[in-house]
Amino acid sequence: MSDEPLDRYEVVIGLEVHTHLLTESKLFSPAPVRYGDPPNHDVHWIDLGLPGVLPVLNEKVIELAIRLGLATHCTVNPRSVFARKNYFYPDLPKGYQISQYEEPIVHGGWIDVKMEEKKGETRTVRVGITRAHLEEDAGKSIHDDAVAGPDRTLIDLNRCGVPLLEVVSEPDLRSAAEAGAYLRALRQLLRYLGVSGGDMEKGQFRCDANVSLRPRGSTELGTRTELKNLNSFRFVEGAIEAEIERQAEILDGGGTVVQCTLAYDPDTHRISVLRVKENASDYRYFPDPDLIPVAIDEAQIERVRASLPELPDVRRERFREAYKLSDYEAGLLTESRALADFFEAAAEAHDGTAKTVANWVLRDLLQVLKDRDIEIGGLALRPETLAALLGLVDRGRLTAASARKLFPEIAGSDADPEALMREQGLEAVRDTGLIEGAVDEALAANPQAIEKFRSGDAKVVNFLMGQVMKRMGGKADPNAVRALLARKLEG
Ligand code: ADP
Ligand code: MG
Repeated sequence: MSDEPLDRYEVVIGLEVHTHLLTESKLFSPAPVRYGDPPNHDVHWIDLGLPGVLPVLNEKVIELAIRLGLATHCTVNPRSVFARKNYFYPDLPKGYQISQYEEPIVHGGWIDVKMEEKKGETRTVRVGITRAHLEEDAGKSIHDDAVAGPDRTLIDLNRCGVPLLEVVSEPDLRSAAEAGAYLRALRQLLRYLGVSGGDMEKGQFRCDANVSLRPRGSTELGTRTELKNLNSFRFVEGAIEAEIERQAEILDGGGTVVQCTLAYDPDTHRISVLRVKENASDYRYFPDPDLIPVAIDEAQIERVRASLPELPDVRRERFREAYKLSDYEAGLLTESRALADFFEAAAEAHDGTAKTVANWVLRDLLQVLKDRDIEIGGLALRPETLAALLGLVDRGRLTAASARKLFPEIAGSDADPEALMREQGLEAVRDTGLIEGAVDEALAANPQAIEKFRSGDAKVVNFLMGQVMKRMGGKADPNAVRALLARKLEG
């Protein structure tokens, strides 16, 4: 027997993702969906389930659910039904959650997930989407001593009734890394589609992970446990790793895994049992008598289909082909729709090759975003301004090194590159007399380099370029320097 559990067991994982839908108001009430408001500020009678209130469906959620359904090859059900899922919890004032059970809004699709293997190699895992259904979120119980005080719990109902789409996957994932990649792909898709903000810190994208092991070669599913409410990619992967180890230990000792619901503590990497598994029958699901079934016709589905944007995988492939980029570069540029849009607009505005623009976006622009911990939307820079900066470099008016020096400021303020170049005295010297003087000096000081060039070492030109640039304070038009050097070396 080997030490690694993965040699003995195959890991089987299915994920349930709860994602907030991008609506202005809640699923069944006119209360606003906002993040960061004071506690219990965004609550309507309907969210509280006060006697006599009636829920009214927010129609926007239907369109959003269809968008995700179509993008994941699901069937959109012509009829879906809201059901009451009954349970008691202090942050669930109605005593039941309105969800969908037997008839969800979409079902039976898949997502292709690209796994980055070794550099440059990818493998595709097809993950089945069992179903996605609409439901309302519950409120929040705050147990944190620092906020609630010792031995007290506070209730914030702002989140009560926020629309959720729960996306349930087939048990098609085989490792923590695959689970992480699936979640990233799903979140990327939700954002491209404008279905969810997908911000995990705001609780807009949360995951329950179902994990089981089975002996390698077996085709039967083992008993699963469910890890609840994992709210970062790192925690999902960490929790699954810890649970694989725990189950392997049980099975190795001849024991059996008990189906139960678990919590993961990322600080200690420990798993604890929340409750032994409840069954669907415990919830006494029944169709909500206050809500009529949702009917969706072909025309509505086609309208939504026509409004879908180009999806990330298709766009990545197109970028690779159209702009002659590597799969890796195309993947980075299409990570978010906003970044991909920025790149395409800049490439359009720029006279030279798109590859140059890609290099600047991937190296300099991403660096600025990382340094400031923001996304592209938070930057003043317009694509035309980046194109203008690169135009100065193309025309030899600014060296690439000087352009890079100016870039962070331009990115932050969208300042005019030409004006800024002048203001900072960075315009490249194009006076051939001056450049020629520097070239002559450099050649005179480096006779051994001339020797090397004459014996066939063409690369030595780069060294000489550097020598000339040094004498010009880094501000000569590199094209002019190169031309002059070539003429003198060959002449
Ligand atoms: P429940 O609400 O009872 O958890 P769901 O049908 O909503 O049930 O979700 C079940 C999830 O568990 C799905 O993502 C499914 O792929 C996954 N799953 C089911 N059986 C197993 C198993 N043996 N091992 C791992 N995952 C499983
Ligand atoms: Mg579940």
